[in-house]
Amino acid sequence: MSILIYAESAEGKFKKVTYELASYAKKVATSLGTTVTAITFNIADVSELSKYGVDKVLKTGDPKLTGFNAKAYANVIKQATQKENVKLVLLSSTTDSLYLAPLVAVALEAGFASNVVGLPVSTSPFQVKRTAFSNKAFNITEISTEVKVLSLSKNSYGIIENESAATEEAFNPALSDADFGIKVETVEKSSGKVTIADADIVVSGGRGLKGPENWGMIEELAAVLGAATACSKPVSDLGWRPHGEHVGQTGKPVSTNLYIAIGISGAIQHIAGINASKVKVVINSDPEAPFFKVADYGVVGDAFEIVPKLIEKLKVF
Ligand code: FAD
Repeated sequence: MSILIYAESAEGKFKKVTYELASYAKKVATSLGTTVTAITFNIADVSELSKYGVDKVLKTGDPKLTGFNAKAYANVIKQATQKENVKLVLLSSTTDSLYLAPLVAVALEAGFASNVVGLPVSTSPFQVKRTAFSNKAFNITEISTEVKVLSLSKNSYGIIENESAATEEAFNPALSDADFGIKVETVEKSSGKVTIADADIVVSGGRGLKGPENWGMIEELAAVLGAATACSKPVSDLGWRPHGEHVGQTGKPVSTNLYIAIGISGAIQHIAGINASKVKVVINSDPEAPFFKVADYGVVGDAFEIVPKLIEKLKVF
């Protein structure tokens, strides 16, 4: 059962989720006695993948594949799967991967499980553990098709170095105009230096911050921590922050190591999207704010007093 991973990239670099996916794939491959192949899209230097146990890299070079295109990418992954006789295709859980994975599964007539956490529970029958109901529960899903497609939840396995000597091979399968029939432009990014998808830490602001003019301290805190900035839905609806920063059930999912919520009440729809984060810190002036019920650490107080003090303390390190 050889394994193929979709090595997701942006602006010529692999995303961190790709290294987690490669680490995970290596572990599964080792237990199955097989190898890991990565499919990359127009990345010149793929050597980083060797650090995480990838054995072979298929490199596409068609200029039309430079920007993410779900339909064309799905066709390329399908052809790579068939060429390498792959039985397990792995993607991560970014917005792009969650768009792509079902298309890959349909193209391969494969069973698909999203939101996978942890190593397969069993390989015969093939069973995986997945989160359900916005991370409130787990279920065990069995896939019985010959080829299987999984998307791995971010931060559910971790990045583990495992040096290998990956071979590289050009891979330019035939594509038709129909493959490029749908094109999604990347219109929004996190306004900070770190994207929400790549961040280990996210600093998020809510309506308690009163207005866009007060976001300076959120950005400063994020900069000190090397974090991405995010916000609650009303904040982006009000136009205080770009929609790309909206997290929650109807926004981006966040599963970081540390999520800091400032002036956010903790409505169920917000929590649903950030629940998978490992450590949740809440700063809120209302001790009854529902967010405190799910927080690991909480500070009851005025964000306008606490956040500047926190920045000062953190700057010392
Ligand atoms: P508020 O609820 O207004 O809370 C502001 C908080 O700031 C309060 O707890 C207050 O005590 C605190 N505060 C005020 N002043 C200060 C201060 N000086 N210092 C510290 N704290 C202070 N919301 C999302 O975020 N993401 C989603 O994906 C999402 N999807 C939704 C989908 C549906 C179908 C629906 C109906 C709603 C959805 N919502 C979503 C909206 C959600 O229900 C809440 O309305 C929203 O999360 C509240 O945002 P908030 O916490 O920023 O604002």
